[in-house]
Amino acid sequence: MAIATINPTTGELVQEFEPHDAAEVERRIAEADEAARALRRTTYAQRAQWMHAAADALEADIDEGARILTLEMGKPLAQSRAEVLKSAKGMRYYADNAERFLADEPLPDASAVGASQAFTRYQPLGVVLAVMPWNYPFWQVIRFAAPALMAGNTGLLKHASNVPQSAIYLDTLFEEGGFPTGSFRTLLIGSREVEAVIADRRVKAVTLTGSEPAGRAVAATAGREIKKAVLELGGSDPFIVMSSADLEAAATTAVKARTSNNGQSCIAGKRFLVHTDVYDEFSRLFAEKMAALRVGDPFDEGVDIGPLATRSGRDDLAELVDDAVARGARVLTGGKAPERPGWFYEPTVIDQLPDDARLVLEEAFGPVASLYRFADREEAARIANQTTFGLSSAVWTNDPEEEAWFIQALDAGAVFVNGMTVSYPELPFGGIKDSGFGRELAAVGIREFTNLKTVWKA
Ligand code: NAP
Repeated sequence: MAIATINPTTGELVQEFEPHDAAEVERRIAEADEAARALRRTTYAQRAQWMHAAADALEADIDEGARILTLEMGKPLAQSRAEVLKSAKGMRYYADNAERFLADEPLPDASAVGASQAFTRYQPLGVVLAVMPWNYPFWQVIRFAAPALMAGNTGLLKHASNVPQSAIYLDTLFEEGGFPTGSFRTLLIGSREVEAVIADRRVKAVTLTGSEPAGRAVAATAGREIKKAVLELGGSDPFIVMSSADLEAAATTAVKARTSNNGQSCIAGKRFLVHTDVYDEFSRLFAEKMAALRVGDPFDEGVDIGPLATRSGRDDLAELVDDAVARGARVLTGGKAPERPGWFYEPTVIDQLPDDARLVLEEAFGPVASLYRFADREEAARIANQTTFGLSSAVWTNDPEEEAWFIQALDAGAVFVNGMTVSYPELPFGGIKDSGFGRELAAVGIREFTNLKTVWKA
């Protein structure tokens, strides 16, 4: 796959980039390795100052940052601006909290282990490789990079091939804030080159956000090389509506959960499970609201949904819908790609899915919602848990007992009650099953790429 910006709104090639050759990759890994030795000797206060300066620079440059995001992957400009601000917020969050999250933890009763003193200390690992997707080209990277650098690690970024301008932008961001040269470096390489970078002895760990096949490949290499890995993979999150729910609010939030980022979010509600007593009303409200969305040029104000980021992504989505329809599913709204240049797909709601439809089990990465009817909560949980994924989930209910039951029953890395899944710097983020392992964000996220050293003193 060429490393290139192709405007998804028009399908036109904007700019192609020459991949880094072996000598340039070597130079960048060596730089990151040297910077790792320097960074681990700096104080939290120093790194926090640099991180704040980088966040300020990012925020001050919001117009340019947002333009790059919308140009390269097509999300509405207002959402690109929100992504820039969220990224700056995430940077400040770790600037302000890293020292507390990684503070020494004393064992209160050291005599129990025959010591005068015993404690644990978090230390950086060194160079960490991040393999990242195009759907949130800044935020996905920042939520790795901010904690990693604050912990004293350095980062190498292999970004998705269709967002090279985002990758190049991030290459200089942390240096601009004052971090030593090489603290964060972009590698313009294809996915075939990733294996050799993971195997490089100077690279200590790897994190991948992306699809399940990419996750399997990277985890296999990391396993062979005995290197720590974190995987943030796909999802097919259930959004469950019980009969006690506020249907109007649930339908409004369901539309947002399914279509924000043009429907290309790992934590989007993708399967909407609705109690039979309220199924007809909810599906009518939901389909109406989906049909009312404005699809168009993501640079235009008021547009809710832009194009999908890649032609293949649009074609894959169309195939999933066509497969379901061919097997007898019913389209309530949408169901096709509009006649226009670029890689658009209509906001779609589909129900009466037979069990063998691919949409039932696979991730729909675009504005396509599938609806399922259930009779009781056991059936809801069974449908919710039947995919191989387990990223997040949402349940809408006004019954406290029901709420407590679902919190226990759903096989997922998160449950959001009467809301939609959102990533917050303050909350751990990650999945189970084929959605991956490890966690990002919060205190647990910064600890993933550290050596938890036990100290025992006689
Ligand atoms: P992708 O095709 O897996 O690509 C992700 C990254 O992995 C890209 O940098 C890609 O490089 C690289 N890659 C692909 N195959 C690889 C391999 N065999 N070895 C090493 N690297 C490889 O995913 P995507 O289409 O960009 O992103 C969409 C997917 O990401 C969805 O499944 C979505 O749910 C998931 N996602 C998950 C999270 C989460 O936090 N759990 C967040 C966002 C997205 P190239 O571009 O050069 O191929």
